[in-house]
Amino acid sequence: SLKGKTAVVTGSNSGIGLGIAWELARAGADVVLNSFTDTDEDHALAQKIAGETGVTARYIKADMSKGDECRALIEQAGACDILVNNAGIQHVAPINEFPSDKWDAIIAINLNSAFHTTAAALPMMRKAGWGRVVNIASAHGLTASPYKSAYVAAKHGIVGMTKVVALETAQEPITANAICPGYVLTPLVEAQIPDTMKEYDMSREDVIKNIMLQRQPSKEFATVEQLGGTCVFLCSDAAAQITGTTISVDGGWTAL
Ligand code: NAD
Repeated sequence: SLKGKTAVVTGSNSGIGLGIAWELARAGADVVLNSFTDTDEDHALAQKIAGETGVTARYIKADMSKGDECRALIEQAGACDILVNNAGIQHVAPINEFPSDKWDAIIAINLNSAFHTTAAALPMMRKAGWGRVVNIASAHGLTASPYKSAYVAAKHGIVGMTKVVALETAQEPITANAICPGYVLTPLVEAQIPDTMKEYDMSREDVIKNIMLQRQPSKEFATVEQLGGTCVFLCSDAAAQITGTTISVDGGWTAL
């Protein structure tokens, strides 16, 4: 059980981050949810997790595109035994047309934020004598697709940084790993299905199998619960010697 541990999950008011927060809470960890907004709904998510699992759950606003706010999130959390760097955005365009501001935002949120949160959290983990850094990379941390230059650069970057953090903590009871999801059924992806069905005049099943999951050999989405379960595993004693590596949850994508 992760009882008594505090987990900070960046970008966790929706999708994979929220799914991971739920599974960590179900495993007994106190959780800190985060995004750049500060709405009643954001705080209600934390209430719901606390109410259903019995752990302490809080929502802390911090913009992961700003280094000082990344560090402030960890300070405000007060404890950070488990750090899940999940916040991320995407933009798709050929490199010669890729807007500079989009490039900067993707590198800041998908890569730089993990540098700042990790730098702030490691001293706390060392003091506590235990720690887990789990970076949510992507199949695009290991392989590429056209038009995703910033995203692929950031995700390869975070895989590299994960290895360095693992080496710097190798002789301590701290591990650092990256999870590399393929296509995951988040609300964001779900919302694209009806439009794509119209666009291609295809059934829901055909859109999923032939358009969305073209590169995912299993022809099934990974779920946020499966990502959460993988994260809980990396926090377990069984995973104490797993460090500096990647775990793909991609239905065989990177085996191709
Ligand atoms: P999502 O859009 O549902 O979640 C992204 C989260 O990041 C949201 O909670 C959002 O509020 C937050 N966020 C965005 N900008 C932020 C900022 N400036 N500061 C703080 N929080 C911010 O998408 P998701 O699919 O759940 O993605 C989560 C992570 O998983 C991302 O790093 C993404 O690259 C990665 N990923 C997703 C998939 C997929 O198929 N969905 C596949 C591989 C990797």
